Amino acid sequence: MSASRASSDDKVYDVHSGRLVIAIQAFLIESEGIRLMVDTCVGDCKERARPEFNHARFGWLGRLEAAGVSVHDIDLVLATHLHVDHVGCNTYYEDGRWRPTFPKARYLFVEEELNFWTSETARSPLERTGDYIGDSILPLFEAGRADIIGHRHVINSSIHLVPLPGHTPGHVGVCIESEGRRAIISGDLFHTPLQCENPDWSTRFCVGPEQSRQTRRAFFETHADTETIIIPAHFPYPCAGSIHRMGNHVYAFRFIRVEDISNVL
Ligand SMILES: [Zn+2]
Repeated sequence: MSASRASSDDKVYDVHSGRLVIAIQAFLIESEGIRLMVDTCVGDCKERARPEFNHARFGWLGRLEAAGVSVHDIDLVLATHLHVDHVGCNTYYEDGRWRPTFPKARYLFVEEELNFWTSETARSPLERTGDYIGDSILPLFEAGRADIIGHRHVINSSIHLVPLPGHTPGHVGVCIESEGRRAIISGDLFHTPLQCENPDWSTRFCVGPEQSRQTRRAFFETHADTETIIIPAHFPYPCAGSIHRMGNHVYAFRFIRVEDISNVL
């Protein structure tokens, strides 16, 4: 799309239903011999409060396999944050317990994020969603597959985390730098290009709406009109794009051209 009003783009806003178009997806990064999976979607056959998620069968792992990626190929798994739609395929159920989906992988958890979601404060949100911490996070610790990391953790010389707190307390982005270029998987810092036009909009899922607003504003200001490719967790295909300044604290998101994907990513 051009850097014009996102609300007029049917890719991100469905005028017929009056609803935003939101994708749920994962990102696989291959770098320096490491395969890192960022976010693992909603998962299958799990008990959830939301009817679309409850005991759903999305078949994401089957599609991953069809794309040529086996669960055995993944070395590291990281969630930008511990919400239900980012950790679901971390585990699967077999022989009476939840087991790691990626048998060889280490699962990385940002300390602030883990502390929050395993604290008393998180008890009531988890009652509203379904206990995904209990079935998709804690079993990885029990299986000895989990590592606790800082919010600026360095994966290798090309990949490091950047703290983007607010949506959740330990929410992080994943910065990938290679051959002088930079991309950032920005998680749920913003859910729709409409938030570029309205950076003060937080969602009802933001644990800290005010901090979310401040982090989003600072991020837009830093990356507007730069070469940085931004990859938000929930944007529909082609998902990635760049941020452009349109006025005082008003921005626009410009999707990359589909024909350019293999060149820039
Ligand atoms: Zn999300």
